[in-house]
Amino acid sequence: MSAVVLSRAINGLAAEVVRVEVKIIPGLPKLTIVGLPDAVVRESKERVRCALVSCGYSYPSRKITVSLAPADIPKDGGRYDLPIALGILLASKQIRVADIEQYECMGELSLSGQIQPVGNIFNSVIKAQQNKRALIIPAQDQDDILIAPKNPVYGAKHLLEVCMHLEGKKPLTEIQVKPLPSVRPFDEDFSDVLDQETLVRACEISLSGHHHLLMCGSPGTGKTMVAKRMISVMPPLLQSEAITVASIYSASGSPRCRDVFYHRPFRAPHHSASAIALSGGSDPIVPGEVSLAQHGILFLDEMPEFSRQALEILREPIESGRIDIARARARCSFPAAFLLVAAMNPCPCGYRLSRKKSCRCAPGQLARYFNQLSGPLLDRIDMLVEVPEQEVQVGSNAPPASSSSAQMQARVVKAQQRQYERQQCLNGFLSKAQMRQYCQPPAALEAHLKRLVNRLCLSARSFDRLLRLSRTIADLDGAIAIEKKHIDQACSYRMLEYLQ
Ligand SMILES: [Zn+2]
Repeated sequence: MSAVVLSRAINGLAAEVVRVEVKIIPGLPKLTIVGLPDAVVRESKERVRCALVSCGYSYPSRKITVSLAPADIPKDGGRYDLPIALGILLASKQIRVADIEQYECMGELSLSGQIQPVGNIFNSVIKAQQNKRALIIPAQDQDDILIAPKNPVYGAKHLLEVCMHLEGKKPLTEIQVKPLPSVRPFDEDFSDVLDQETLVRACEISLSGHHHLLMCGSPGTGKTMVAKRMISVMPPLLQSEAITVASIYSASGSPRCRDVFYHRPFRAPHHSASAIALSGGSDPIVPGEVSLAQHGILFLDEMPEFSRQALEILREPIESGRIDIARARARCSFPAAFLLVAAMNPCPCGYRLSRKKSCRCAPGQLARYFNQLSGPLLDRIDMLVEVPEQEVQVGSNAPPASSSSAQMQARVVKAQQRQYERQQCLNGFLSKAQMRQYCQPPAALEAHLKRLVNRLCLSARSFDRLLRLSRTIADLDGAIAIEKKHIDQACSYRMLEYLQ
């Protein structure tokens, strides 16, 4: 007597199908679960036994073997309780279901047969749709489904409800997903930023071509204020991008809020964050800040205050847009294509560049502070911008405000369209081969470029980044070819000697 019920295992973003196979054979009464179950899954036998008895079914007093296949994927959590209970009922012929292979189900059982939430449902719904199967999930998890599924998804509260539905006695109600709200305006706008023309221009360039940005300036110069407003300039997410972002959030255990489904994420981890908090990890593997910032901004305030180990984590995703995590029981790869926006003070006390206060830092302190930022990491940051101190304005002579976020967004979108039409990606993502095709400056500028490389001591990598940046400045200008003024402006974003 055997039966197979389908469910899904969570392994990073992959919600892989799991065949829960139950076999009942004569022998001493015992339930054995095989197929890499964790402690919670192993305890499932007690929950399932009590739930079946509470619902009036009999628990077979024979040898029951439950196999969770494929055997090499780790199985975590209580989500297999429902398929195991259904498998036992089917194998012992207490319920008869003709089309059980058309369903996937998951849910934790209480001792009385109530179905408890399991979380991380979004990815299972997407995968079940691809396989054209109906899905039975805990009713309390239905808020995790953000887009209307094509195949039916049922929310169940009790094991008996599921049995009656499968036997065709009383159907469960299908979950209806409310339409997602259209994009909500942001509370913070660039028009609040006063007297910071150079910095605002740098932000526009950074957003237009996906160039990582490091702002350096005394406390109170508006670095954090500007970083928070950068997200309001980014164009809304496409649906496919929004689904990827929602999958990552669901896998992290904190599902995406419906209101911000089409908003790009803005992540600002505290400088005490560990390397694992940034990269992702633990057991089971969950995505970290670099992945939660996918298609959005990762803002690191007080960058040198982060541990060196945490900062070095950023190197791999900045290059490849992904992060690979290997742990003892599993390995995972998560998307991590974020725009890095970082801020720092020019010294530990913060006033090295100030005209108003004097710096109190000793040379040793300064060296330790800058040593936190390794050469290879700085090499990967395209734009280093010094933020000047502002004059305090007293009275009605307010300094000029910068463009509004909407005006900036219009210019950014136009520059991005030029890039997509030319090369199908933003300049920040250009490969070496594409660069040779699209970022070559005119031959007349070669001698000028050589001089610049020598003067700024550029590495081959930072020279490539300089050319990409020049291409973006030319795109914002609407220019077909890169000109000398574009290269010179790009160079002005690499001139913080004390960071070289
Ligand atoms: Zn100082």
